[in-house]
Amino acid sequence: MDIEKIISDMTLHEKIDFCIGADMWHTKNIKRLGIGSVTMSDGPHGMRFQGDVKGIAGLNKSAPATCFPSAVTAAATWNEKLIYEQGRAIGREAHDLGVDIVLGPGCNIKRNPLGGRNFEYYSEDPLLSGKLAAAQIRGLQSETVSACLKHFAVNSQEYMRQTSDSVVDERALHEIYLSAFETAVKEAHPDSLMCSYNMINGVYASDNRQLLTDILRREWGFSGLVISDWGAVNDRIAAFEAGCDLCMPGGSSYMTEQVEKAVESGRLSEENINASVRRILRVYEKYVEHDNVRRAVFTEHHELAQKVAEEGAVLLKNDGVLPVKVDDICLIGHMCEETRYQGAGSSHINPHTQVNICDAFRDVPYVACCDEKGNVSDDGLRIAAELASSKRTAVVVAGLPEYYECEAKDREHMRLPDGHNRMIRAVAAANPNTVVVLLGGSPMELPWVEDVRAVLYMGLPGQAAGTALQRLLCGEICPSGKLAETWPICCDDVASVDTFGKRCVQYKESIFVGYRHYCSAGIQVRYPFGHGLSYTSFKYDNLCVDGNTVSVDITNTGSCRGAETVQIYISKPKDGLFCPDRELCGFAKIVLEPNETKTVKTELADRAFSVWSKGWRIQAGTYRIMVGSSCKDIRLSVETEKDGEHLYSSAGGFYVHPGREKPTQSEWEKLLDREVCEPKEKVKGSFDMNSTCMDMIGKTWVARPLRFLMKLVVGSRVSGKHDMSNPEYRMMFTSTVECPMRTLIISSCGAVKESFVNGLIEMANGHFLRGTAAMLGLKLRRNK
Ligand code: BGC
Repeated sequence: MDIEKIISDMTLHEKIDFCIGADMWHTKNIKRLGIGSVTMSDGPHGMRFQGDVKGIAGLNKSAPATCFPSAVTAAATWNEKLIYEQGRAIGREAHDLGVDIVLGPGCNIKRNPLGGRNFEYYSEDPLLSGKLAAAQIRGLQSETVSACLKHFAVNSQEYMRQTSDSVVDERALHEIYLSAFETAVKEAHPDSLMCSYNMINGVYASDNRQLLTDILRREWGFSGLVISDWGAVNDRIAAFEAGCDLCMPGGSSYMTEQVEKAVESGRLSEENINASVRRILRVYEKYVEHDNVRRAVFTEHHELAQKVAEEGAVLLKNDGVLPVKVDDICLIGHMCEETRYQGAGSSHINPHTQVNICDAFRDVPYVACCDEKGNVSDDGLRIAAELASSKRTAVVVAGLPEYYECEAKDREHMRLPDGHNRMIRAVAAANPNTVVVLLGGSPMELPWVEDVRAVLYMGLPGQAAGTALQRLLCGEICPSGKLAETWPICCDDVASVDTFGKRCVQYKESIFVGYRHYCSAGIQVRYPFGHGLSYTSFKYDNLCVDGNTVSVDITNTGSCRGAETVQIYISKPKDGLFCPDRELCGFAKIVLEPNETKTVKTELADRAFSVWSKGWRIQAGTYRIMVGSSCKDIRLSVETEKDGEHLYSSAGGFYVHPGREKPTQSEWEKLLDREVCEPKEKVKGSFDMNSTCMDMIGKTWVARPLRFLMKLVVGSRVSGKHDMSNPEYRMMFTSTVECPMRTLIISSCGAVKESFVNGLIEMANGHFLRGTAAMLGLKLRRNK
């Protein structure tokens, strides 16, 4: 394919238009030049393929596919090879469905346990996130489909996700929030990347040239296609200049006229547009010959989904009660029959088959005790207690109902439903051998943990949930999952507790995210990062550090075969610079037979010793290398000297002595090297394309009918009614009322016209006549 010839044969209008998709999932074709379209579909933990649906379908209406465990569970395997295999299987399904680009994986950092999409992300740690994302991308792309790494960048909350501003200092930006993307881009070369909705330090990701060109392309060498998140493009002219190639979804002609004029007037170079067209064509070129097999089901991947679920289950507590004999147990909790196995939102898969917990324990006595929302009655509790006391061990299954965590909406708290806590307490009071199984995509408060003998966290284990649990509980599989995020005791312990969930999100804690904060500040947690028990035990010997090479001997000292994830942490010299107490710098998972010893040898990258100080630099001094079974369970450590520079930071207070006290505004602004100006609240007269329906509520009469209309439209596509406990409805409704006006044009695939939105804004600003005229297409005056 002669891409340059095609570009030179295209008119300016054609080129601009080509950089907006055709519909929800396809790029445009240009029949005149023999160019077909590229097909996209969500990921990340399976295919949400919506067939040939041209417009907006409900989220859950997709072709049957394998529902693998969500990233939260996949990450707890700490097993790059396994994640590669999972990526490969998803790639195969994508290929067979005729999909060219899989929208995933996501490797945003879990900054706060309340993040509504945390279940879709791997970890609070950039190294682990980056390595696992790279493994998934390599797997996907080994099957001649493209991955789309998302959501770039600093997109760690759902509240006002389409208009929030992530205010972040340079060090946290590079060391925490960009680092996972950097690893994935450099190690796995994804064909595409999705820019996020939010602003980063005041500039929307789609318009952010520093991010999309200077860092991504120039520094990291990314040569692929940048796709906007669905409806994320802010200013199309700035987006072209920034290197955001493809505006999705398609169907609208958002700002094409303005872009054309900008090129004609010389404000925007046509070369920017050519570059974007070229990058779309390069991806298309890869798929011209795509021979799609198109099958309906992918049953052969069920076993792999089960394996990931088994390896991703984390045994949080066990005083010896597990494993159990199946005849000795009873099961309690509604989630046994309606097992929570995946998250809600754009990652929702329609599995071709699904094993609930009850299906896998057919002959085990069971009571639901609570309903699907977690409500219990006194009668239900009494019956559950009776059943619990009739068996040697009682297994209670609890967790987060689907509507507690979903895309577009952060969690409100870290608690389980009250009914689940009551159910666990009632069972534990009736049977001293109580085991709790937890399902859900993020950490939970466990107020009853001292009253139960074991806790097994399954995360969101995918379609094979039931079988995986049965094999783990009964000892057919030895648990080996390790937490990829800390479980704090409660939300108040989280460093970002005061700044999370705001419109202007000040990342004041800087690099002190997750265990970096808890370990440095001496804050006790429920379960530390990297924690996970086994049915066997491991001994660590002979740690040796020679330059960047770390080696250690691991012996299985227990009586069953098991896997251990050896974690390597580094503590950097703190003279002149602030640093977290420890940082993960390497890991390796090994399987050992009883009494077997293996030597784990790892080569640390120079980056492990580096900090961001206007570039990656190494501080001269003494480094401590620690190996252990979690960030708190360090078994061996040695010191090593490193040559380097003498770096200095003037940051003080919290950053030098992190504790429970949060950084003061002046400490933070000193670190940031500027004052933070929170944007003024929009009032009537100042509404524009970036205002949301929620911004307008209570300030203009336009808002209420608009909100009502949104309810009707979303309701008609999803549940038929306004029902915020329906996660699909909740996500779509929240996304709509919180989206900037411009996004209504793009996300409706052009059904909502730019003139209508301009008219609406005029009306909201109090100009009824001007608004009516704009809606009728009469240009009296134009809003930006
Ligand atoms: C989500 C993306 C997703 C896209 C398409 C967006 O709202 O943020 O993760 O890939 O929709 O469904």
